[in-house]
Amino acid sequence: HAKRHLRGRTVIFSSELEAEIRSRGVIETLLRTADFDTEMELVFQPIVDSMNEHTVGFEALARWQSPRLGWVSPADFIPAAERIGLIRPLTQALLVRALAAAKTWPDHTRLSFNLSAHDICSPDGILPLIAIIEKSGVTPRRLDFEITETAVTFDFARAQQSIAALKAMGCGISLDDFGTGYSSLSHVHRLPLDKLKIDRSFVADINENPVSHKIIKSLTGLCDDMEIACVVEGVETRAQLDTLRRLGCDFLQGYYFAKPMPGAAIADHLAKDRARLDAAQGAKVVA
Ligand code: C2E
Ligand code: MG
Ligand code: MG
Ligand code: MG
Repeated sequence: HAKRHLRGRTVIFSSELEAEIRSRGVIETLLRTADFDTEMELVFQPIVDSMNEHTVGFEALARWQSPRLGWVSPADFIPAAERIGLIRPLTQALLVRALAAAKTWPDHTRLSFNLSAHDICSPDGILPLIAIIEKSGVTPRRLDFEITETAVTFDFARAQQSIAALKAMGCGISLDDFGTGYSSLSHVHRLPLDKLKIDRSFVADINENPVSHKIIKSLTGLCDDMEIACVVEGVETRAQLDTLRRLGCDFLQGYYFAKPMPGAAIADHLAKDRARLDAAQGAKVVA
């Protein structure tokens, strides 16, 4: 009986594995012939000031609507694009569109854009991106490039050069998903960072798990000491917001404030945000 049970488990395991490998193959095959102009989209998620919940900028997040597979998560297709060598043209196509969107926003509204390992670690990988930024007419001071620790470890010397080139233009650099992967404080120490983005895994149980609370508390202290801004992603509840504000986090992002939205919804979001801030300030003046 045990043997049959064991055999059953083995079969289930290997067929799941096969399905996984097949679907990876399918994503790669369809991505090779995907028309980035029509199938790829960007949505934008607000990043807010923790003190007044006012939107200070948006993070651009890629979406793939495959005619064959339907909606595919960037967690699946970005790594696939990296594996098949398509990430650099994809990044370039997305950056052109993100900057075109940012150009229509108010001057002080920032754009955060995610870069992959290949974008910053291939020889001269950063040059086409710099050309795109220059051509866009968007002030580099309004831009933040998000880079994960895993991406910089790919080729640290080259990553440092790419980051230095972006910094020289006036762009900001954020270290994304901090606390996951091969985290190392030496990255914080050796890279010219403007922001540290604390991974959402620490936020989920911040009010239930004293360890998560302590980790965020010490990371905000680290950011203060290093004089870099602290951004926390994945804020889903009012209780999490209250705790993070108390811990001195500078900027917050998450479903509690807003889900990622299409570019067409941004003007309306900013108008409502402005009205809410004006009403709050009016109330303070009266009081
Ligand atoms: P990320 O850069 O850490 O982006 C944050 C992710 O958290 C997004 O997932 C966002 O939708 C999700 N998120 C935001 N608020 C909440 C929340 O309150 N709760 C929960 N559970 N999730 C929240 P998304 O859009 O699926 O993107 C996943 C990852 O894919 C991104 O993680 C980023 O690493 C990568 N990615 C997305 N767009 C691009 C891109 O254009 N280029 C590159 N290289 N990577 C991208
Ligand atoms: Mg990001
Ligand atoms: Mg992140
Ligand atoms: Mg701080």
